[in-house]
Amino acid sequence: ARNVTRHFAGPARLFGSSAPVRAVDGVSFDIRRGETFAIVGESGCGKSTLARLLIRLLSLTGGQVIYDGQDISGLSDSEMRNLRGELQFIFQDPFSSLNPRMTVGAIVEEPMQVHGVGGTSAERKERVAQLLGRVGLRAEHADRYPHEFSGGQRQRIGIARALASGPKVIIGDEPVSALDVSIQAQVVNLLEDLKDEFGLTLIIIAHDLAVIRHMSDRVGVMYLGEMIELGPTDALYDKPLHPYTQALMAAIPVPFPNARPMSEGLSGDVPSPSAPPPGCRFHTRCPHAQDRCARDKPVLEPVPEPGGDGRQVACHFWREIERPDSGLDAEPA
Ligand code: SF4
Ligand code: MG
Repeated sequence: ARNVTRHFAGPARLFGSSAPVRAVDGVSFDIRRGETFAIVGESGCGKSTLARLLIRLLSLTGGQVIYDGQDISGLSDSEMRNLRGELQFIFQDPFSSLNPRMTVGAIVEEPMQVHGVGGTSAERKERVAQLLGRVGLRAEHADRYPHEFSGGQRQRIGIARALASGPKVIIGDEPVSALDVSIQAQVVNLLEDLKDEFGLTLIIIAHDLAVIRHMSDRVGVMYLGEMIELGPTDALYDKPLHPYTQALMAAIPVPFPNARPMSEGLSGDVPSPSAPPPGCRFHTRCPHAQDRCARDKPVLEPVPEPGGDGRQVACHFWREIERPDSGLDAEPA
């Protein structure tokens, strides 16, 4: 992603038009082949929009998405069609993302027909049966309808559908957050197994940091349309550098899931993405904010080695903010 940007028209006002919603505002990062990359942040931070931009389910208003060496940001819909089979999406809500009038078999088979893969009709049906088995359902389920299944089973159907076209990349937009906590781990484990088996690159969108800790290789943290910290999952969880990431980590409810909202510990509301604060967008809520923060925008910069762990952070003062066990040298900028 190179400076990926998406602004939506603001809501109409009686007198004149309102400011555009800056849903995703100049986000740059790399996703590596074969990794699981998680994008996290509170609702409204732009993570779902970013996910859709990465595979062009939405068009960009600025920047580029380079996929496998090719800039796909300017491709027409028909040019994108050739890539659709490689870039698949799992939706958050398994109850609304499956057509209630189609059988499970038809739902899973459809991407093969659309993308011209899977061979003859009989071969496609065989593949549907295999895929259903692989996601923990049974071949006979192909003749049934989505409403006959539980939420977890429906998400398995959605995963089978995403696998049908032989994808290289699967993006899951909060793929387990609509499921019972007891089911979430099963679906997460399934995704991890399938990733290895099919050689996938996974991009997982989550507001819940606890869910992605054990499944992601690297994490990018978003705030108000920008990526503010990025790095290997373990390093980021052990020693978050950005004050916002630190607040998110402090709000992870342990050991009681769902006990506290994520934003607890942060003062103030999330500002409007139509009128983001100048300078550092987090300065209105940051416990470490100084005068400079309201003026100068920090950019996402590599954390120097040794100890940087390939991390990037967008904060003027990350070196000076007390982090008891960071082990990083507090050198002046
Ligand atoms: Fe806080 Fe300033 Fe860092 Fe922004 S730049 S996170 S306001 S200390
Ligand atoms: Mg969302």
